[in-house]
Amino acid sequence: MLNIVLFGPPGAGKGTQSAILIEKFGLIHLSTGDMLRAEMASGSELGERVKNIMAEGKLVSDEIVIELIRKRLDTHKDANGFIFDGFPRTIAQAEALDRLLAEKGTAISVMISLVVPTQELVKRLIKRGQESGRADDNEETILRRIGEYNEKTLPVATYYQQQGKLKEIEGVGSIEEIAARIQTALQSVAGNA
Ligand code: AMP
Repeated sequence: MLNIVLFGPPGAGKGTQSAILIEKFGLIHLSTGDMLRAEMASGSELGERVKNIMAEGKLVSDEIVIELIRKRLDTHKDANGFIFDGFPRTIAQAEALDRLLAEKGTAISVMISLVVPTQELVKRLIKRGQESGRADDNEETILRRIGEYNEKTLPVATYYQQQGKLKEIEGVGSIEEIAARIQTALQSVAGNA
């Protein structure tokens, strides 16, 4: 299996690059942000619980997102592999993911970390907010989300680096240029048939 963690701050281009990778490798895309937004849109009890936390740009609890991922991993028993987008965002989530994958007899193959300067992120997210109307793409919330990333999520890169799985990719350039850089990085990854 090819199991990729696509990592980076909000606005780094994880969703865009995920779409390209899914197409190329036939992977299942697991985005906890998308799952949580779907819960809110459906008006579920879980959606109601996370609405305010997300609107403020804070992280929802580890238990909630780990459970969402666990269910999806169970649903796709015959997958070629998974692409994790926006998950894991804390060390506890990374440890839980390792355990869940080990139960399935597999593991994370690689972490692709998109590196983008903060100024560029803010510019991209303000533009996305204007185009998509995403409630958390306003300047105050964007800065909170980047703060949460630096404080709680960045250590997750070190976690995978210690396992020899971290590949940092410059995330500034055209979509095609960045996709090509990711492609090159993946060529050296075991499990990439
Ligand atoms: P995203 O679409 O990945 O930018 O996520 C949007 C928001 O959903 C985040 O700002 C968090 O409030 C929440 N969220 C998504 N994924 C996670 C996660 N793995 N852990 C905690 N909160 C998350």
